[in-house]
Amino acid sequence: MNAKTKITSVAILTSGGDSPGMNCVIRSVVRTAIGNGIKVYGINKGYEGLLNNDMIEMNASSVGNIIQRGGTILQSSRCPEFREKHNREKAAQILEDRGIKALIVIGGDGSFKGAIALNQEMGVPVIGIPGTIDNDISGTQYTIGFDTAVQTAIEAVDKIRDTAASSNRTFFIEVMGAKSSSIALKVGICTGAENVLLSDQKVDHQKIADAIRRGIRRGKGSSIIIVAEGDKPGRSYDIAHILKDLHDISSKVCVLGHIQRGGSPTSNDRFLGSVMGQMAIETLMEGNTQNAIVVRDDRVQSVPLSDCSEKSDHAMKAFKGIAEELSI
Ligand code: ADP
Repeated sequence: MNAKTKITSVAILTSGGDSPGMNCVIRSVVRTAIGNGIKVYGINKGYEGLLNNDMIEMNASSVGNIIQRGGTILQSSRCPEFREKHNREKAAQILEDRGIKALIVIGGDGSFKGAIALNQEMGVPVIGIPGTIDNDISGTQYTIGFDTAVQTAIEAVDKIRDTAASSNRTFFIEVMGAKSSSIALKVGICTGAENVLLSDQKVDHQKIADAIRRGIRRGKGSSIIIVAEGDKPGRSYDIAHILKDLHDISSKVCVLGHIQRGGSPTSNDRFLGSVMGQMAIETLMEGNTQNAIVVRDDRVQSVPLSDCSEKSDHAMKAFKGIAEELSI
């Protein structure tokens, strides 16, 4: 496709882990497309639905009353079959048979890898929009859903802080992030946590014990330690047991879990989702066929899709020093 080719119809899907704000993007894409005379199909359940030809044409009212709802009305899925080239061929054929000229994919770095492969191998025009609570895609400062997940975790930590302070306790509060420390770092800074344990950090129990004791000597009654779940959800229980057994420090554990994924999107995620969805359609209308809509220098921009092919939590990792300096 070149700049002169008129886009007549597009499809949109949500893939991988759902995140609050995906519905804002869907709404924005659908309404911008319709406003510009472009047909828009909603594909159910991500790449799985694409392979099953499971999609419906959407209209302005299909996306009414969803801006405030978490999750995704299109549903999401993990689809291992999409990693195989012959299935991506099938997907391209399904789109072609329906006369669909471009695909908009909302998801994490895995979903982007699928989108890049579909674009590079089959020539399907693709626009990627980063949607994941983990804020861990290269090429963008923010992903949709991160702000809401952080806000949910902050509210929970503030509540736990009340009880920790009232009873002189140490709490390990585990937040999501298998390979990303973004939620842990932002929540740690925003709640004044005494310590943040990153997802890829080897746990130094002696150091944690020393920091807790230092706090007690300074008159601190309670400590909050934010733990990124890493590759072992629930690992906070192991840390708490070792602190008790080897250092005689008692603590409580709270694993926040999936409450961080759901809920009504914050104003930031609603706004970002609305702006990104609109820019996705504009980008296609300008004749671009392999772009991602990202936030850089605090501006929403359209950049090459390949910029977003890696997992990366560097945008938040830049604030690790602040988390440490403020937690003495
Ligand atoms: P996320 O998009 O949230 O990172 P996943 O990593 O589970 O979630 O990826 C979502 C889906 O994207 C996978 O189930 C698969 O369909 C597709 N996908 C992931 N990696 C690839 C890849 N290397 N090639 C093709 N498709 C992929």
